[in-house]
Amino acid sequence: MSTPPLHLSGVVLPDGEHRDLWVRDGRFTTEPVPGAETVSRGGWLVPGLVDAHCHVGIGRGGTPVEDLAGLREQALAERAAGVLALRDCGAPVDTRALDDEPDLPQVIRAGRHLAAPKRYIPGLAVELGPADLADEVRVQARRGDGWVKLVGDWIDRGVGDLAPEWPEEAVAAAIAAAHEEGARVTAHTFGTDALPALIRSGIDCIEHGTGLTEELVAEMAARGTAVVPTLVNVEHFPSFAAAGEKRFPAYASTMRRLHAGSGAVVRAAYEAGVPVFAGTDAGGGIEHGRIADEVRALHEAGLPAEAALAAASWGARAWLGLPCIEEGARADVVVYDADPRADLATLARPARIVLRGRVVA
Ligand SMILES: [Zn+2]
Repeated sequence: MSTPPLHLSGVVLPDGEHRDLWVRDGRFTTEPVPGAETVSRGGWLVPGLVDAHCHVGIGRGGTPVEDLAGLREQALAERAAGVLALRDCGAPVDTRALDDEPDLPQVIRAGRHLAAPKRYIPGLAVELGPADLADEVRVQARRGDGWVKLVGDWIDRGVGDLAPEWPEEAVAAAIAAAHEEGARVTAHTFGTDALPALIRSGIDCIEHGTGLTEELVAEMAARGTAVVPTLVNVEHFPSFAAAGEKRFPAYASTMRRLHAGSGAVVRAAYEAGVPVFAGTDAGGGIEHGRIADEVRALHEAGLPAEAALAAASWGARAWLGLPCIEEGARADVVVYDADPRADLATLARPARIVLRGRVVA
């Protein structure tokens, strides 16, 4: 795909230096390109934002999105928020057709959610027993883009509360199988009890992680295990609690307790040195395009503004193997009129979005 040459000048993050940059054949260069059109001057240039937990493929109410137009609409809502790459963290449908759409963000897939029978949102996961988990992990690892998604805990209606989905041997075998396939593993967990086995078995990331304790945070920090807190989703815990109150009072009280402690967990993880990344959990009950809200929530939980921004940009990009604003890198950049580190509210107003070297907004 050939794109006309561009010129941008401004303060380049994360280093904060004022620079002139050109885009040739969709890639950054510091060499002036004759005839390049200046598309931005004097702004703050932020490496394309990342939503590290974002379900393109899950529609309102948790129903799979089967048609390309529906998938495009979700991806375009992310793009409008400056999200130029996303980790889908599990999708019930094949979204590969999006890879042929050059105007859409890059999707890094995690295959399908893997859950124990009747232990996740109906219709979304591959549901299977512990003896089959490792084999299915291999299947999903080969389908994905370097990630596999386990559902680590969910309400167990027999217990009336959150409970782990898998025995430790199954978790250990599944994570080892993914690693053999060259994939990283992440797991949905709200509560605490599923976490020790996942972390001990060498999982690469924890989603939500509201049940993390000080001890588990210390182990994650030592191992380099990341967390994607999805605070935009955690805001909904009180409504999950209210919905379950009558039949599952213990679950309701657990969800309220986890909600109340969620900010402190994020702060403790960050302060302990656990890599924290921004993910909205969009799809289903959460609208696409809310990365700025998640960054603000991470900051309110205790991350310095610059760290909260890094969690949705250069930090997340490095973690996912994506380059930033550098010679030869694909030109994915979001420009703001003011310094977003000084006021994260700026993130809600991208002045220019360049995706694959093309101005898209
Ligand atoms: Zn999710």
